[in-house]
Amino acid sequence: MRALLILGGGTAGTMIANKLRRRLPAEEWTITVVDRDDDHHYQPGYLFVPFAGYTRSEIVRSRHHFIADGVELVLGEIDRVVPESDVVHLADGRELAYDYLVIATGTTPRPDQTPGMLGAEWRRSIFDFYTLEGAEALAAALATFDHGRLVVHVAETPIKCPVAPLEFAFLVEAWLRQEGLRDRVELAYVTPLDGAFTQPVASALLGRMLAERKIEVETDFLVERVDPDRKTLVSYDGREVPFDLLVTVPVNMGADFVARSGLGDELNYVPVAKHTLLAAGHSNIFAVGDASDIPTSKAGSVAHFAVEVFVDNFLEHADGLPMTGSFDGHANCFVESGDDKALLIDFNYDTQPLPGKYPIPRVGPLSLLKETRANHLGKLAFRHLYWNVLLPGRSLPLPTHMSLAGKQLPDTTAKEK
Ligand SMILES: Cc1cc2nc3c(=O)[nH]c(=O)nc-3n(C[C@H](O)[C@H](O)[C@H](O)COP(=O)(O)OP(=O)(O)OC[C@H]3O[C@@H](n4cnc5c(N)ncnc54)[C@H](O)[C@@H]3O)c2cc1C
Repeated sequence: MRALLILGGGTAGTMIANKLRRRLPAEEWTITVVDRDDDHHYQPGYLFVPFAGYTRSEIVRSRHHFIADGVELVLGEIDRVVPESDVVHLADGRELAYDYLVIATGTTPRPDQTPGMLGAEWRRSIFDFYTLEGAEALAAALATFDHGRLVVHVAETPIKCPVAPLEFAFLVEAWLRQEGLRDRVELAYVTPLDGAFTQPVASALLGRMLAERKIEVETDFLVERVDPDRKTLVSYDGREVPFDLLVTVPVNMGADFVARSGLGDELNYVPVAKHTLLAAGHSNIFAVGDASDIPTSKAGSVAHFAVEVFVDNFLEHADGLPMTGSFDGHANCFVESGDDKALLIDFNYDTQPLPGKYPIPRVGPLSLLKETRANHLGKLAFRHLYWNVLLPGRSLPLPTHMSLAGKQLPDTTAKEK
């Protein structure tokens, strides 16, 4: 018997286990997934919780329900990988041996990394929506917030779903209008980037959208600390941004056990070959999803497209053959913009988000870099596709690799690095 061990039963780990269980003979291969608990979260749903959009029961399901028969789900905290002996240690002392290891433990918001963030104002006037508890606490805070200065803040990049803070800014602006409070609230968007987003065409459009909504933008803001007494963000270059209500996306980091195992970079992401996801310096360890250091967005869509390539590659690799699939960094992300509209962006390692139609070139029905109601409905429909199609490992009729067909090319399509 050969053993495939998958660390993390989130988006990527679940899809990999379910797809490979159908392809690897049960009499030759065991497949084991390890996660700390039995709660699978649909994280894109967190965005809507502060606006009473989703309840906990629509966002959280049992992991067991989604793991195929013939896959063992082990619940426990991962403590350490010892690559030299092909063993994973759990915090409770259990040991799991592997022939092949997939690290799919994602990335986690770490408010502890910014001095002052977890002080007296945490969950009083400082909130995050990157955890379900944070999103629920923010919902309660918004329900009583009726005037003052609301600051949406990104501490550092990369973060998972890098458009989510922009979506929150657009949604809260629309919500304040609907509540009749917009003229009583100042809105600001504070980012370490030099614009609203990373890539030129999308950044220019999203920056215009923030300006149209009278959301002031503070760029190149590298936060040094939060001063909870003065309710102020302080940057390394001495700038200060005051707030009455801070909605922050804390520093995101890979799992600590990755660092303890000597497998991570300075943010605990696993360096991999970006086209095959094979961990640098290892022949039997892969990292898939947010846990790797690939230079594209950390997003569920990326995990999905990457898994499609990874599964075929893994079968070749396990047979001693060269891996013929090449992941291109394909990502697509809906960007909620308020008033029941959304944009869609589609890009990869080499091509920045561009206008056009998706998934059928020139037809759609979704529009790239354009606010439409169809895009918003697409975002809402995605939750059902996630639970019923993607997680069980079924195929969506979407091209794995990004296509340029139907896209409007600017003078240069080179992506900003
Ligand atoms: C607010 C928000 C909005 C988002 N919106 C979108 C969107 O619209 N579109 C999109 O494509 N993506 C979106 N995402 C991102 C998407 O949810 C993630 O990119 C995706 O879930 C990554 O999958 P993953 O398998 O790499 O990690 P995860 O799904 O996070 O899974 C990692 C798993 O590892 C487990 N784990 C970690 N460390 C340990 C340990 N030490 N021991 C045991 N278990 C461990 C965790 O419990 C978790 O289950 C959003 C995320 C957030 C937070």
